[in-house]
Amino acid sequence: MTGAPIRLAVVGLGKIAHDQHLPAIAANSSLDLAATVSPHHGGVATTPHFASLGDLLADGPAIDAVVICIPPQVRYDLAAQALARGLHVFLEKPPGATVAEVAALSNQAQASGVTLFAGWHSRFAPGVEPAREWLSGKRLDRVAIVWREDVRVWHPGQAWIWEPGGLGVFDPGINALSIATHILPHAFFLTAATLSIPANRAAPIAADLVFRDTAGTAITMDLDFRQTGPQSWDITVDTDGGTLTLSSGGAVLHLPDAIVAHDEREYPGLYARFVDLIRDCRREVDTRPLQLVADAFLRGRQQIVEAFDD
Ligand code: NAP
Repeated sequence: MTGAPIRLAVVGLGKIAHDQHLPAIAANSSLDLAATVSPHHGGVATTPHFASLGDLLADGPAIDAVVICIPPQVRYDLAAQALARGLHVFLEKPPGATVAEVAALSNQAQASGVTLFAGWHSRFAPGVEPAREWLSGKRLDRVAIVWREDVRVWHPGQAWIWEPGGLGVFDPGINALSIATHILPHAFFLTAATLSIPANRAAPIAADLVFRDTAGTAITMDLDFRQTGPQSWDITVDTDGGTLTLSSGGAVLHLPDAIVAHDEREYPGLYARFVDLIRDCRREVDTRPLQLVADAFLRGRQQIVEAFDD
């Protein structure tokens, strides 16, 4: 079903809004950027801009949906406010600071009959669907996830990431879990973890985790924010049919007899899904990646490591 463009407001004009959301919205003819909201930002071009969602809802142009690109700790109230106004809501990852608040939003959206989309952008990387198809029906022997990046390059000055609920190294690590929960054929759960927390911070800078799937296969995960030089965003799966390697965050897939690499970007696919969900009056709120991170904080050993400054 098609119709008039969906009038969107982007809430939170930070790094990801500028890098990905605004270009993807501009490139999608089913979407119309009707307003922006950000407390300390001047807005973009001629689009009406507001310092708060409350100001937009009180005095702004009519909108159909909001895209929430603010840190997870301040998501819930704004998302609930938008849902209460009958607006469709797209949540950047992670969908919230706790699993229970996302469940509350999901229930609210269902009761209101509007779309809530917990967008996991890494699932829209070009290697992910072919990886899922290739793994289907295979016996897994071992899974290794290595996600090591330089926080100074990718999250400059983002103080919220080091606060409770900001997830620390799980902010990128949850992207790996969003892929793994999508492509691996069996559910998996945490069995052990060590979270390394800088002495001057409240969130981990590194983590080593071990999961096991319901078929008994071990899944290891190595997360580190202190990587310099080449960055690693790799998932390797040894199977009875050979080894699969999904690298560059899902952009490149190596199979025993093929390489799948496209130059597709993730956010156009995310927005196409959001449009479809709205047109079909559906919700998509998968909290499995967030649940696994919550379990790491619940079940993992926490160790204090050297202080870290940006
Ligand atoms: P960021 O650069 O720190 O930007 C966050 C923005 O949120 C800021 O511009 C801030 O606006 C705004 N904000 C904070 N509180 C607000 C409120 N109460 N109302 C409205 N706006 C508010 O962070 P980011 O990197 O864009 O990340 C935002 C989210 O996207 C995070 O959940 C992150 O995990 C996710 N994400 C980030 C990336 C990435 O590469 N950075 C990739 C994918 C997903 P002001 O500047 O006006 O104060």
